[in-house]
Amino acid sequence: MVEDPKAFEALLQEDRVFPPPGDFAAKAHAKDDSLYRMAEEDPDGFWAGMAENLDWFTPWTQVLDWKPPYAKWFVDGKLNVSYNCLDRHLKTWRRNKAAIIWEGEPGDSRTITYDQLSREVNQFANVLKGQGVKKGDRVTIYLGMVPELPIAMLACARIGAPHSVVFGGFSPESLRQRIDDAEAKVVITADGGWRRGGMVPLKKNTDEAIEGSGVETVIVVRRMGDRMPVDMKAGRDLWWHDLMKGASAACEPEPMDSEDLLYLLYTSGTTGKPKGIMHTTGGYLTGVAATTKYVFDLKDEDVFWCTADIGWVTGHSYIVYGPLANGGTSLMYEGAPDFPERDRFWSIIEKYRVNTLYTAPTAIRSFMRWGGEWPARHDMSSLRLLGTVGEPINPEAWMWYYEHIGGKRTPIVDTWWQTETGHILITPLPGAVATKPGSATRPFPGIKAEVVNERGEPVGAGQGGYLVLTRPWPGMLRGIWGDPERYQGTYWNRFPGIYFTGDGAKRDKDGYIWLLGRVDDVVNVAGHRIGTMEVESALVDHRSVAEAAVIGKNHEVKGQAISAFVTVKEGVVQDDKLIAELREHVARKIGALARPDDIFFAAELPKTRSGKIMRRLLRDVAEGRALGDTTTLADPNVVAKLKSQYEEKEA
Ligand code: ATP
Ligand code: MG
Repeated sequence: MVEDPKAFEALLQEDRVFPPPGDFAAKAHAKDDSLYRMAEEDPDGFWAGMAENLDWFTPWTQVLDWKPPYAKWFVDGKLNVSYNCLDRHLKTWRRNKAAIIWEGEPGDSRTITYDQLSREVNQFANVLKGQGVKKGDRVTIYLGMVPELPIAMLACARIGAPHSVVFGGFSPESLRQRIDDAEAKVVITADGGWRRGGMVPLKKNTDEAIEGSGVETVIVVRRMGDRMPVDMKAGRDLWWHDLMKGASAACEPEPMDSEDLLYLLYTSGTTGKPKGIMHTTGGYLTGVAATTKYVFDLKDEDVFWCTADIGWVTGHSYIVYGPLANGGTSLMYEGAPDFPERDRFWSIIEKYRVNTLYTAPTAIRSFMRWGGEWPARHDMSSLRLLGTVGEPINPEAWMWYYEHIGGKRTPIVDTWWQTETGHILITPLPGAVATKPGSATRPFPGIKAEVVNERGEPVGAGQGGYLVLTRPWPGMLRGIWGDPERYQGTYWNRFPGIYFTGDGAKRDKDGYIWLLGRVDDVVNVAGHRIGTMEVESALVDHRSVAEAAVIGKNHEVKGQAISAFVTVKEGVVQDDKLIAELREHVARKIGALARPDDIFFAAELPKTRSGKIMRRLLRDVAEGRALGDTTTLADPNVVAKLKSQYEEKEA
């Protein structure tokens, strides 16, 4: 094969392998390769089998109709998502099983059985109907992590009104953008939400956001009560509890076409302006239900905790739809991981005897920085499985998670997917696949992923390239709301008929997939294309480093130079000696090629509201440009401060 200078260099070596623990595998839904083999032989048949686990009002006539770039799954089939998440369980012993266990940040809690959840969903579905919401109308939901959030989503699904959940941490401007884009006439919000002991003024933000917009009705959940008085505009604003009082608990589920829109969700905006991702009914539910069952080995007696906010796709798929479609028990926590203390997560695990924890690398790196003494205070022996999602996980963070949270007992599933993919696509099955720290391992059964070079040819073992998906999958996005050209251009133009993920990856000699970061974040040093991820992992591997972000900075000779922004662990002295040590550490771990040209100590790194590092802003800082769009940042002050410190140092 011709050498491809455009492929990524694969640098880091990682040889640790963790086979599935025998006792775990013995009881797992997937204990061997049989699902993979089944799917390999007949992918459509495999997915049809998964879809048969749902209840359909009308059976489908065709599994897949693929006219690139548009797929239809389970053609002509009719079903209702809320029926599948609720009604069908009521006919079984699960009627009185906990569907949602909820804990508020101040320590209040609620356990909601399937029967109770179903009643509230039916009532709220009737409330929405009473407000004139019809099938196809978009409803924007801007709430904190309270039970009314999944209730509102399921009520929308029941009457066929697509929801658009906007993360409660977003500003009025961001909310307005998303309301306008979806042309929503109804907004559901709360007086406020708890966050780290403070109150987020959700209603006030909503008022500001919808000033002069097309919104006709605002339904307000009372979470704060007297603590946070709000203005209720007559003729527009209504209290949730007032409307629910008179509402009937019987609402027929709308029979939805498999391809009817279930929801819109805007991406986190790590690389640019958020896109309104469209997810439909039959394929999406099939994909989330199947992956929840097999990736998390979900059992009836499990307490499953996904710590994401429901404002992100992870919460949609793995707090609400996946667990409930399976009749599982989903734990939902309202607040911050360090409130009132840095052991809140571990105390929740102990209190509810959580079996599965699914969280993000950014959170794990914070826990590492806070130290192992916090989890050590709690009995976490109930845990039997851990998961991660959102970013590549540095092998050091993986090992810390394995030791300090999983007690070296539990498998870890590193799950790769996107808002666009709807459900997990690359992941180990924990009872069947040996894991390696930092690798998402293999495609889920029925998923076809490849790592390809610039010309679209698969790369050899040990080489890097672009991660693409060569076959449609049930939960794939059906478009970008109102922007078919962007849909075509973002995902389908690079390699026609093949989905372009925008992520770099490598394949190792065992065929395992390693994510290397986003294609936009690749550094090109003297013709070598280096994924930021590997250099970051080498830095995080050093005992002084808590977190690192690596970018390519324009360089006259080399094209780009490697620039690293590093945050250190508590109490570490930030001096030139440490910089020299870190540069050598990287060179030793992965080669001189990757030695950072400069290292800058940052107090904090700029992150999106979903916790992902925004490297494009760091490039703006390093190259002395005005900052690009910062509206999706968690805290715009972080990057502003960084910019002025950086400029001071350069001067
Ligand atoms: P935008 O597309 O608006 O820039 P975003 O890509 O951050 O934002 P998401 O859909 O929330 O929005 O994130 C998906 C991305 O997160 C993936 O493309 C990948 O870059 C990263 N990611 C998710 N899970 C993993 C994982 N397990 N390993 C590596 N990267 C991951
Ligand atoms: Mg993306």
